[in-house]
Amino acid sequence: MTDISLPVLPTTVIGSYPRPAWLRKVLRLWKTGKFDKEQVEEALNDAVISVLSDQVEAGIDIPSDGEQRRDEMVEYFAERIGGFKFYDPIRIWGNAYYRKPAVYAPLEYRGSIVVREFMFLKSVCNKPVKVTVTGPYTIADWSFNEYYSSKEELTFELAKIINREMKALEEAGAPYVQIDEPALSTHPDELDWAIEAINMAVNNVRIKIGMHVCYGDYSKIIPYLEKLRVSQLALEFANRGFKDIGIVKKMPEDKELGFGVIDVHNKKIETTDEVYYAIKRMIEIFPARRLYINPDCGLKMLPRKIAKEKMRIMVEATRKIRGEVKDDGPVIKIP
Ligand SMILES: [Zn+2]
Repeated sequence: MTDISLPVLPTTVIGSYPRPAWLRKVLRLWKTGKFDKEQVEEALNDAVISVLSDQVEAGIDIPSDGEQRRDEMVEYFAERIGGFKFYDPIRIWGNAYYRKPAVYAPLEYRGSIVVREFMFLKSVCNKPVKVTVTGPYTIADWSFNEYYSSKEELTFELAKIINREMKALEEAGAPYVQIDEPALSTHPDELDWAIEAINMAVNNVRIKIGMHVCYGDYSKIIPYLEKLRVSQLALEFANRGFKDIGIVKKMPEDKELGFGVIDVHNKKIETTDEVYYAIKRMIEIFPARRLYINPDCGLKMLPRKIAKEKMRIMVEATRKIRGEVKDDGPVIKIP
């Protein structure tokens, strides 16, 4: 395979995208036995094609499969790693329920977790794609630990499992994987070893790796970036009205930034100008050649129509500013 050249300020998504209403219905009916596994698989594949076409129509340079197969980001991984069991669902917000996993036995890698997702996406998409992997720290943080002596030990054991998955994705030809660590900003006192665990998860993996961290006090994370072995940080800024964009000046020079310019917690659609001026402010303090443009976070909580329109606006604003930027776009190196 050859390296992938991207336009300057490539646009991408964080990962999740709203499921089509009909898919939600199919999944509900499946649980009551009204569909069989094969029919559900067909529906999931069709859903990926649908949400991919939303992204492509909106003009996204690096789409994802919208995580259509995953009910929840930690649960999906815990279901596919040996050593986990599940307790009854707990309510997390509104009507969203979460089955909290518990580690009760030694963890065991039972074979690839998301490679199949990538292979299907690749088969229906001729653009470079992003694959998301839930990070070891977040899986540990959102699970009960009933086996290992500490959360730290559990996180490092999970890192070994995720490392095998990363290698499987590299083997399968995935060009770009993003580790999602939303929990990372919630316990700054654990950053020291959490960053080491993430490094273990990406050890000896040569493809492009980014990391997404949901909003928190990023200034606590920035000092650790020097030793973190991922090439990109995708961070949320729109939700806070771009108040703290100045912190990117402290990012090490070998790191790219995935700049969050769309608020995923607000149904109000940004204007092209709002996004355009946010990017303009950013390229005054951060090199455009190391900048990717994305929404703050996954779009799954938004109505689908609004998610699509927000992406279209994001692309429109980015295209508007590209003409004013002299830098070349980034290149994704294929090992
Ligand atoms: Zn997020």
